[in-house]
Amino acid sequence: MTKMKRILAVVLAAVMCFAIVGCDKKNDVDSATESVVNSTSQTTAATNDNADNKTTTSGTLVMATNASFPPYEYYENEKIVGIDAEVAELIAQKLGMTLEIKDMEFGSIIGAVQTGTVDMGMAGMTVTEDRLVTVDFSDTYATAVQVIIVKEGSEIKTADDLEGKKIGVQENTTGDIYVTGDFGEESVKRYSKGNDAVAALSAGIIDAVVIDNEPAKNYVEANDGLKVLDTSYADEEYAIAIRKDNTDLKDKINAALAELKADGTLDSIVAKYIPEN
Ligand code: GLN
Repeated sequence: MTKMKRILAVVLAAVMCFAIVGCDKKNDVDSATESVVNSTSQTTAATNDNADNKTTTSGTLVMATNASFPPYEYYENEKIVGIDAEVAELIAQKLGMTLEIKDMEFGSIIGAVQTGTVDMGMAGMTVTEDRLVTVDFSDTYATAVQVIIVKEGSEIKTADDLEGKKIGVQENTTGDIYVTGDFGEESVKRYSKGNDAVAALSAGIIDAVVIDNEPAKNYVEANDGLKVLDTSYADEEYAIAIRKDNTDLKDKINAALAELKADGTLDSIVAKYIPEN
């Protein structure tokens, strides 16, 4: 499990994305867990009636996310909250726009950005070479680590111990790409939500879950008998996905992000959701 192998996996995924338009890895989804695309919208739905618009609807910044990824985006009292939701709200304010959040499967976000049905994708989304083939990314606003969740008392102590095990991932995420590349298709069990992968781990259906560190901590806190291994699997950076030809929006988002970083707002939002930081 070298970093080289991981890079190769990402490059391979990029090549496959060219071959399969849309990059939708639906063919190998665990049918038992595949759920209907639940694209619900937090405010009024926007339409993409003019692809040349700087945003899908004038005055509205439409963000695609997958709201089962605490502390970045999750539901609280039927509202999507979290680090990404708050940062996006402030970006929209700085742009003089209203934020609208659309909740959808993680694997649908890049396509929605690419086709212009949304203005940006913000979902604890890692910048990868294969994603950069189809969308642009803003400057990064967070770093993350892919970690391994196991049951307490598990014989799995390091990433190498995952060999021959059933490993749960959230489909279409970097965890999915790394685990598939490192251990092969037969080792991977894909779930549409991180929660579902963790529930399968608790139920003994799988042996481990590879997922981003902060959601991992949240899932482990919410479920008895699980722990996050100390060894990390991969280091990553989160950024906002924006349509390739929408450099105007990208520049504005980057300017807003720079202000939020410079005046300490970003740090205080992160500290609110991740208290120990
Ligand atoms: N950071 C991971 C990725 O970009 C997972 C993101 C997520 O599940 N929301 O693939």
